Order: sequence, then C-alpha cells, then structure tokens
Amino acid sequence: MTRHHLNIIGFIINCTWISIFFSGTPMMWILMGIASLLFLVFLSLGILLPNRNYFLTNTTRLKNTKVLLTFDDGPHEHLTPQILKTLKRHNIGAIFFVIGKQAEEHPEIIRQLLADGHLIGNHTQNHPIMFAALRQDSVEKEIGLCDNMLIAQNIHPGTYFRPPIGYTNPRIARAVKKFRKQVIGWSLRSFDSVLKEESKLLERVSSKIKPGDIVLFHDNLPQTEAILDRFIVQATKNGIKFAEPNHLKTIFK
Ligand SMILES: [Zn+2]
Repeated sequence: MTRHHLNIIGFIINCTWISIFFSGTPMMWILMGIASLLFLVFLSLGILLPNRNYFLTNTTRLKNTKVLLTFDDGPHEHLTPQILKTLKRHNIGAIFFVIGKQAEEHPEIIRQLLADGHLIGNHTQNHPIMFAALRQDSVEKEIGLCDNMLIAQNIHPGTYFRPPIGYTNPRIARAVKKFRKQVIGWSLRSFDSVLKEESKLLERVSSKIKPGDIVLFHDNLPQTEAILDRFIVQATKNGIKFAEPNHLKTIFK
C-alpha cells in the first residue's frame, strides 16, 4: 500500500463521514472543500518531492555510512571515459543511469565501466523531459526499449531504474513493478546542470556531503568532470568514505 493509496482512502473516508453527518447543509460543502484541498496538497507534494515515497519506494539514502556517486544521462563520448579514469584512480565505484540512445552509440564505454566494476541503471531510451506526463504504454516503451537495447549489445540491463527528472506517478509506479525495477533516487543533488561555474559546484557538493548520501551527478557535463577529482580529494580529507567497486553489489543492503 503506497502513500498515494492511503491518501485516496483517507479522502473517501472523509467524504463519507461528511456526507453522513452534514448532509444537505452548507457546512457539508465547506468540509468537502477542505477534504479535497488536503487530498490535492498531499498529491502535489508526492509528485514534487519523490523522496517522500508517495507513489513508489524510492531508495534515497544508504543504510551504511559510505557515499555512493551516481551519474545520469550518459554515456558521453569524451566526458564519461575521463570520469572513469578519475574514479579508477581513487578506487571508487559508481552507478551510471544510462540513456538508451546514448548507450546505443557508445556501447564500448558501457563495457569499460562495467569492466571497471561500476554498475548501470536504466534512465529510459530517450529521456523524455515530460516523462511524468506520458501515457502508460509510452512509459513502458521508454523503459523496455532501453533494456532491450542494452540486451541487444550483450549488456545486462540490471534492475536499477531512475526516472528522468525524478518525478513519479501511478503510471511510472505500475511500469516499475512490471519491469521489476528498483528505483534509485538521491539524497544530495549536485545541481551540476544549473551550477555551470566550477567553484560554485565544488562548493555546493563539498559543503553538503555527509555519510550515507547518494549523490546525483551528470556524466555528460564538462563542469562535473572538471571538479570530480578535487571533490573526491576534499571529501576524503574530511573523512568521507566513498563506495568502492567491490561494495556495489551489496550497497543497498
Ligand atoms: Zn536525466
């Protein structure tokens, strides 16, 4: 039972007792209005704040004190290999949420990152910006195409999934169940797609990082590649322990 189901049940219960006790009175409409407003507030918060696990269970933190780096929207022809070199130098393992059409163009990079001990996750075939507005069949098509494309390249797609932009809804929840995916969110958003100035990006992630965090980066952005080494060095000095490649298989346990 998700929080969305509980919200619907709560709304039905409220409407039932209001219509029993206040039937035909002006108070009935006032209370019905309040019940509807509450329903919509919970629904909106559930859509806008995926970490609330409103529609589905979304893993947003580790149960241990390591820090997990995740990279979305790749693989990128030049930047991802550079990021892989930096991670290898520091013996850090990461999860890359790949876009199917990108992976199709650079399967050799996916093979390299898997050989380095990293894991991949499905980030849909085309990364539709309005993913949360898609119909059920289109949502399923986006997830299925990405998996099938990886399988066609002899790459196991794994079970992890991260929806584009992070928003969720009942259609995405149904698709996730159908494909038996585990949804991985984040606890620290680097905002690397907004903070293009390296110093600001480095300052943000370095000041916010704490044990147990799942960090969201993008491996198709030059500023992310540029600060990664400095970020790792600084955080390690401050006592942060990043997940190593051999930790990844049990990282969510
Ligand atoms: Zn993305």
